[in-house]
Amino acid sequence: MKKVLITGAAGFIGSHLCDRFIKEGCYVIGIDNFLTGSPENLEHLLLNQNFEFIEHDIIEGLELEGQLDLILHFACPASPVDYLNFPIETLMVDSVGTSHVLNLAKEKKARYVFASTSEVYGDPQIHPQPESYWGNVNPVGPRSVYDEAKRFSEALSMAYYREYGVDIRIIRIFNTYGPRMKLQDGRVVPNFIFQALKGIDLTVYGDGSQTRSFCYVDDLIDGIFSVAEKDEIKYRVLNLGNPDEFKIVDFARIIIEKTGSESKIIFKPLPPDDPQMRKPDIDRAHESLQWSPKISLDEGIKSTIEFFQSQLKEQE
Ligand code: NAD
Ligand code: UDP
Repeated sequence: MKKVLITGAAGFIGSHLCDRFIKEGCYVIGIDNFLTGSPENLEHLLLNQNFEFIEHDIIEGLELEGQLDLILHFACPASPVDYLNFPIETLMVDSVGTSHVLNLAKEKKARYVFASTSEVYGDPQIHPQPESYWGNVNPVGPRSVYDEAKRFSEALSMAYYREYGVDIRIIRIFNTYGPRMKLQDGRVVPNFIFQALKGIDLTVYGDGSQTRSFCYVDDLIDGIFSVAEKDEIKYRVLNLGNPDEFKIVDFARIIIEKTGSESKIIFKPLPPDDPQMRKPDIDRAHESLQWSPKISLDEGIKSTIEFFQSQLKEQE
């Protein structure tokens, strides 16, 4: 039975990965320190014989007995609000933490998949963003704690590939949403849905002309699974995301319509270095994995709204 280690297992994406790899017949070891994740995301797996959870901070080190076939390194705060609240933890988990994970991959001869991000492109000057683009990142701005940590992790991963032949794969994930996001993690999808469901004003930052492209989590998990499973790969770096692009102000209107809310839109200052546009070029993923997202925004937003509605009910 294939043994898979998932760091950041209690997070939004990590917990969906645990579900998927167990469903595919793997034995999954999840690691998390609950910095931004939640035990509730894994509650349903705790009695599963093919799942094991270790509460641990990977910055402290990482040792495991026995065989390991695959490591999915996903531990890291991902919401801008979270990584600005935990700037040092963010830098450390995607530098010191990454080096511990890579050493383990080297020791176990395990395949290694790293969760990088569209943020490595910074505020891009090329649109849409292909993997060949080197980015436009402010190395000392507030977002640099995330962007530069991810860029360092990418560089370290490539060095482990070149120096030691570790089978590394880097995926640059574009904005992904869906059930198990925290209601108030500050990202635009949960923020707008929470505000709309509560009947409070939706907070659009800046004039709302900045764009994002939203991928539903099930599509992303399919893409990650394909990247992890494929033995022969042409590219070590792949974008995964949905190329359908929306202005943030239009996205706010969509959420108001889909929730049937009476909320209005208000405008707040744009955070520093907020990227003006973002849209993945997914030609590589399409060519090498025959992967492209299947779930429309309509469908994905519907199930995300239902999830947040049930969360709010539980809180009442
Ligand atoms: P999340 O905050 O829900 O999950 C991150 C998990 O990592 C949390 O459970 C957190 O407790 C854990 N963690 C953080 N530091 C840790 C440490 N030192 N030791 C052990 N566990 C630690 O975020 P997410 O949206 O699920 O993102 C997961 C990964 O995907 C991150 O690496 C993120 O950068 C990347 N990513 C996500 C998106 C997205 O749109 N969701 C986009 C690009 C990249
Ligand atoms: N945003 C917004 N209102 C909110 C939260 C976010 O207008 O309540 C904007 C934010 O400024 C950015 C976009 O929505 O332009 C996406 O933000 P998010 O925090 O989800 O992730 P990012 O893509 O910036 O990492």
